[in-house]
Amino acid sequence: STILAIESSCDDTSAAVVRDGRVLSNVTASQGVHVEYGGVVPEYASRAHQRNIVPTVEVALRRAGVSGADVDAVAFTRGPGLIGSLMVGVSFAKAFALARNIPLIEVDHMQAHVLAHFAEEPKPEFPFLCLTVSGGHTQLVVVRSALEQEIIGRTIDDAAGEAFDKSGKLLGLPYPAGPEIDKLAALGRPELDFAQPDPGGLDFSFSGLKTSILYTLQRKAREEEDYVRNHLHDICASIQDAIISTLLRKLIAASEQTGLQRIALAGGVSANRELRQRLETTGTERGWQTFVPRLEYCTDNAAMIGVTATFKYEQGIFVGQDVAPAARL
Ligand code: ATP
Ligand code: FE
Repeated sequence: STILAIESSCDDTSAAVVRDGRVLSNVTASQGVHVEYGGVVPEYASRAHQRNIVPTVEVALRRAGVSGADVDAVAFTRGPGLIGSLMVGVSFAKAFALARNIPLIEVDHMQAHVLAHFAEEPKPEFPFLCLTVSGGHTQLVVVRSALEQEIIGRTIDDAAGEAFDKSGKLLGLPYPAGPEIDKLAALGRPELDFAQPDPGGLDFSFSGLKTSILYTLQRKAREEEDYVRNHLHDICASIQDAIISTLLRKLIAASEQTGLQRIALAGGVSANRELRQRLETTGTERGWQTFVPRLEYCTDNAAMIGVTATFKYEQGIFVGQDVAPAARL
């Protein structure tokens, strides 16, 4: 099967061609416009998708060496995401499918983040445990098969990526702050202790972190002028350490609870170097087999949508032209 996949859930317009589960092309147009606003502006995001979608698909087809007539099915992200952004991808996919008289495949964005591991080798064997850490979600998922995914833990407030971004905002770092904190933290030491409430079980809570950072920085500012500027590296290392320690503690608990030792990382935050390193160390200590996708497949991308759609195509799971995007799934 040759599948054209579209992803437009947030601020990246992405198109990919996946043939028999193999990624032939994966093209993403990122929107620079949100940086100056310190976050994604939904209204601007949907307009940029509208401008980018056709050129992005054209490049994806060209790079794959495929013409529209070779495409067997069109896949798209139905949700979760920004409704105006999703709408652009869904409408494009519907129009393409209608014009070519080929089936439509809807994909759950979070399922796709997990299945990004199947975009290339090494692919985890089922069942495995996946920690999905992205801008909007933090989930512990038991993956029994491609389409049987059970969420056994989740954040009750902010996502891990959000925790990075909001903490960075407090420090005056540009959006998204995750990659910035990653870089700055590499030059510092985690000397500050930020409190992180634990909602118990396998759930996460990150909203208390911001308050803790704010209070600590206010206190330090009274003791030392220009505290943040002088200690930026250590502050970033401490924020990163607080987030990653929580993620790993829950991941270990989930592995013990489920008995699963094949452990995968998914979502944009898995780009974090310290998280990757500590997962590897913890994995070695515990005899885990760990899987971390290449960066290109960690953040939002259409390849993961195409890979997920391939599993659905094989089972003949299609949707009709009356399908509508869903901000929450
Ligand atoms: P969702 O999939 O939940 O809808 P999203 O798709 O917007 O959210 P992703 O693109 O998967 O999220 O990830 C973006 C998040 O990853 C941002 O919060 C960003 O700060 C964070 N991030 C990216 N790189 C790093 C890094 N190196 N270290 C920490 N966080 C990072
Ligand atoms: Fe995402």
